[in-house]
Amino acid sequence: MKNFVYLVGDAKTRECVVIDACWDVRGIQRVIDGDKMKLVGAIATHYHFDHTGGTPPPPFDALGIKVPGIRELHLRGLPCHAHEEDAGEIVRRNEIPRDKLITHKDGALFKVGAIEMKFMHTPGHSPGSMVIAVRGDQQGAPGDGNGVVISGDTIFPGSCGRLDLPDASAERMFDSLARCARELPEEMYVYPGHDYNGARSTVKREKQTGLLRPFTKQQWMTMHAR
Ligand SMILES: [Zn+2]
Repeated sequence: MKNFVYLVGDAKTRECVVIDACWDVRGIQRVIDGDKMKLVGAIATHYHFDHTGGTPPPPFDALGIKVPGIRELHLRGLPCHAHEEDAGEIVRRNEIPRDKLITHKDGALFKVGAIEMKFMHTPGHSPGSMVIAVRGDQQGAPGDGNGVVISGDTIFPGSCGRLDLPDASAERMFDSLARCARELPEEMYVYPGHDYNGARSTVKREKQTGLLRPFTKQQWMTMHAR
């Protein structure tokens, strides 16, 4: 599924968080150890099993497979963060106590060391999908001074996350992408949730050739008619 897992940390305090910790939790820890960093929490861009772990959807649920993910981190006592609209599914699929999942609303600010990031609620691919924006004008921020947005399954280079899933909404995705186009600085790098069409883009490029370019709602809904 070519998922990307991201680590964002402060090189001074040596603290980091993992975004979409899944598939190979031990491998993630090895990278953190190799960088001499300390993992202090996990953030999920959305609830899907390939980003959080747990039980995959049908027909694979019948196979008894459990994908490692935030449950393993929870059992180690690490706090896990997500948007409130995806919290129920994360708790259910990963069998973690509801009060151990820290939920957030749109616009929540989150800090790791001195690096501040903002959770933007971008529903569409899932009800509680969010993108995580790290401004480039902070000391030590990632992205060569331009900042980065970790876009989960909301923005991919040249496309967006699937909208044919039962709780996906093309209409909400339209609003979410329009808002990203409006609010995210053009120089910002975009790091998507899967390697479907490259590992990195920029907001500017997606505004020119991707799905951050302007559409009318009618055009958009015609494109995504089921
Ligand atoms: Zn997804």
